[in-house]
Amino acid sequence: MPDLLSQYADAVGVAAVDHLRQLAAPLRGIRVVHVNSTRVGGGVAEILSKLVPLKQELGIDARWEVISGDSLFFKTTKSFHNGLQGSKVTVDPRELAHYEETNAENATEMRELLEEADIVFVHDPQPAPLLKLVPRRRGKWIWRCHIDVSRPNRRVWDQLSVFLSGYDASIFSLAAFAQGLPHTQYLIPPSIDPLSEKNMPLEEADVQAVRDEFGIDPSRDMILQVSRYDRFKDPVGVIQAYRLAKRFSPGLQLVLAGGGADDDPEAGDVIAETQAAADGDPNIHVLLLPPDAHRTINALQRAADIVLQKSTREGFGLTVSEAMWKGKPVIGGDTGGIRLQIIDSHTGYLVSTPEGAALRIRFLLHRRKRLEEMGARARDYVRDNFLLTRHLREYLTVMISVANRAEERIELE
Ligand code: UDP
Repeated sequence: MPDLLSQYADAVGVAAVDHLRQLAAPLRGIRVVHVNSTRVGGGVAEILSKLVPLKQELGIDARWEVISGDSLFFKTTKSFHNGLQGSKVTVDPRELAHYEETNAENATEMRELLEEADIVFVHDPQPAPLLKLVPRRRGKWIWRCHIDVSRPNRRVWDQLSVFLSGYDASIFSLAAFAQGLPHTQYLIPPSIDPLSEKNMPLEEADVQAVRDEFGIDPSRDMILQVSRYDRFKDPVGVIQAYRLAKRFSPGLQLVLAGGGADDDPEAGDVIAETQAAADGDPNIHVLLLPPDAHRTINALQRAADIVLQKSTREGFGLTVSEAMWKGKPVIGGDTGGIRLQIIDSHTGYLVSTPEGAALRIRFLLHRRKRLEEMGARARDYVRDNFLLTRHLREYLTVMISVANRAEERIELE
């Protein structure tokens, strides 16, 4: 089995991996600790499960620690999470006290490791109070926020920021998420993993098997949106765009792929609205997939001619990079992180209405060469900007930056 870095070289090229090795050279041997609150499930654990071994291969003494807590602790941190995303929640004094106490217990267990570390990355709100609880730290501490904090509930933000102000730096995913904090803020957008089940290369037979499973005709054009059933993802707008485009491409098929409604009470309503809009059209496939259907989503993205992400509000929109990486032009809502990924008319199209989306679908379906060229540019753009290796490169850059003293840096105005 080749080492992990060499496996990434197949996706991003040897030069990009050599670049990582060069960047990491001055960091060899430094002690880095990542702390979060779960080892499995969710995007943060997924990213750390790759980033930490990659750092180790680069010679960094990287560790990943997970804090533990009881149900009240996780209920409180869920309130923080929802509040940071703008929900009207409150964290009462008893919950806040328990949140700090739980962190104090975890700090006692990890004290030596945290005191000795050169750099500590604390991920999301759950372990944020650790910094205050390790007063004899010798390293630099960075708070890494993975949450969409573009419009936080101010009360909840104020409660959390008491624990954040002492950090040496923080990292947010997008400029729109940056906050008023008394330290340097770095922006590192999310990334997709080209080796994961969701994004790895598939055989044509695997793609065909998924077409067969859902009754998709390979001889006719197919457009796709992969999204949770959420109004901000605008599945009904996607159906409207499909109907308008179909006037010029009568054989067109539409697939809407999303999860069931188990964990989101609103999803049931949105699924019903979507099914009503589909109105029994046999060429509209409204799929309810299990949460681990990564390979199915991979195959659907490969089977599509064009992918839509017609969101009206979006944090980043990982589905956009996922489709672009598979060489598909994406027609995306002109909002949030979609704007970061789609360069309008170059790597895809940005649209604001179903009519705009339909116009672009019609244009691309009738100009196959343009469609393929745009897809190829989309793939290149993701390779250079939104793969896990870029994410790692930026982590290394931040580590070099904080490990050196400010006066050794040249700030370009
Ligand atoms: N996804 C999935 N199953 C679904 C719908 C979405 O696995 O039924 C995945 C999708 O491929 C992507 C992620 O969930 O990796 C959604 O991330 P994104 O940033 O696009 O949107 P969010 O759901 O976070 O708003």
